[in-house]
Amino acid sequence: MRADAASRKEALDNSNEMAPVQGTVDVDVPITVLWEAFAHANWWPRWNKCFFWAHNRDLIEGQRLVWAFQPIRWYYLYKMFAIANIVEVEKEKKVTWEVTAMPGFYARHTYHMEDLGGGRSRFGSWEQAMGSQIRAGLTRRFWIAHFTFVKDRSLEGAKMLESIYRHDGRISEAALHGRTNWARGLALLLLFFLLLIGSSVAWFYESYVRLTAVEILPGVTAVLDGGGNSTLVRDGDQLLLIDTKFPPGSTLLRRWISKHVDIPVSMIVNTHYHYDHTQGNTQYPRAVIYAYQNVPDLMRKRDGAWWSQHQAAMPTKLVGDEATIRVGSQPVLLVHPGPAHTQGDLYAVIHRDDKDVVATGDIVFNTYYPMMDLGDGGMDLHGLRAAVQGLVDKYPNAIFIPGHGPIANSEDLRRYAAYLKSLTDSIDSAQHDGVTEDEAVARIDLSSWHLRKLPTFHDNHLCWSNAAMNIHWAYQLEAGTRIQRLNCTF
Ligand SMILES: [Zn+2]
Repeated sequence: MRADAASRKEALDNSNEMAPVQGTVDVDVPITVLWEAFAHANWWPRWNKCFFWAHNRDLIEGQRLVWAFQPIRWYYLYKMFAIANIVEVEKEKKVTWEVTAMPGFYARHTYHMEDLGGGRSRFGSWEQAMGSQIRAGLTRRFWIAHFTFVKDRSLEGAKMLESIYRHDGRISEAALHGRTNWARGLALLLLFFLLLIGSSVAWFYESYVRLTAVEILPGVTAVLDGGGNSTLVRDGDQLLLIDTKFPPGSTLLRRWISKHVDIPVSMIVNTHYHYDHTQGNTQYPRAVIYAYQNVPDLMRKRDGAWWSQHQAAMPTKLVGDEATIRVGSQPVLLVHPGPAHTQGDLYAVIHRDDKDVVATGDIVFNTYYPMMDLGDGGMDLHGLRAAVQGLVDKYPNAIFIPGHGPIANSEDLRRYAAYLKSLTDSIDSAQHDGVTEDEAVARIDLSSWHLRKLPTFHDNHLCWSNAAMNIHWAYQLEAGTRIQRLNCTF
């Protein structure tokens, strides 16, 4: 040992900043075999699970030792690189190195072994450190946890060497290889998939489930996402909710309302029969529910199984092509634009403080590819375009709360109408040229509209409303085939 290393050891012995972290284990392995396996530093990661990687092949006094540690918990995503100087090597007895490269940190680690006779050996790990990192509470806690991790994994490793020796009568590199790599590979693969699932769930929640409330005017608030967008209109002691979402967004919405509004929902408008705007009706058993006159029929025809279990939540106040309801003293105009997103749409107009707010329901998807319902009572593509254009013409200065997507103005609606026209025109010319549905999907490029895809659920199937599906749906609507395949398997 060199003189400066000896003086550092003496300082450490006198430091008392931490007790050494140490332990031993006895193994049924002759000392010569144990040493031979141990002295290959590049084998360490295969039997000693505190190591991720080690650079050196052999242990030579005076040389540097370079390696990377595994994290102290397998799911912490760090690898800690370390560099040390080998200060002692005594064959079949011990190896010591010092870590001096880090500011405020000096550590000394010894692996030692002892011949117990009869083909048995004692293997041990000893580590002690000093410096400001050991004196400070937070870093001290980390280092002691880390030293304990190193000691425990090392002793476990010695037992693993013992089991290989018992089985094979020797400890070969190949035996070590077979032992550990598949387990590490599997763990990494599992970790990768957990991360993938975790980040997908977080993304999905952020994108589609989390509610965002926007106060449009005093007493008029849009609560976006978590299903179809919802609108709250309050006047005096009455509270109107336009569209009630579906579980779990509908529960989040009811909680949001209880927390932020001091009166209960007294009336509901369903803009159309689709589940993502109506299933949340069950959250408000005392509210009166308005809808266009054919909506209960459509609910029974199209989602009969669900509504037969929830009949009390079906709309009972049915309106014709135009009606005005009152929320306190605030009139709310309900208009049926004719067949559009469905055959039973309503939009709601609130005129307040010289401004118009229009809750459009799914007549408008803003920035998303629209969902198209091909079933009976479903979409009329040309009627939809006319309805969107009608809103632009009638309410050029209004604030629009779309069925899906962010708050819009008439410019956004104009753009949406242009998208619907472009889609319809492309389909019409494809069909005129005798192009099949699948060819049309391959040929028509909708990417320049920069629309986002939107998930919908039907019969426990997740279906993305995206460019390809818009082409499939529009193709069938234009061809008049209307084969409803909501689970997206074309
Ligand atoms: Zn919807």
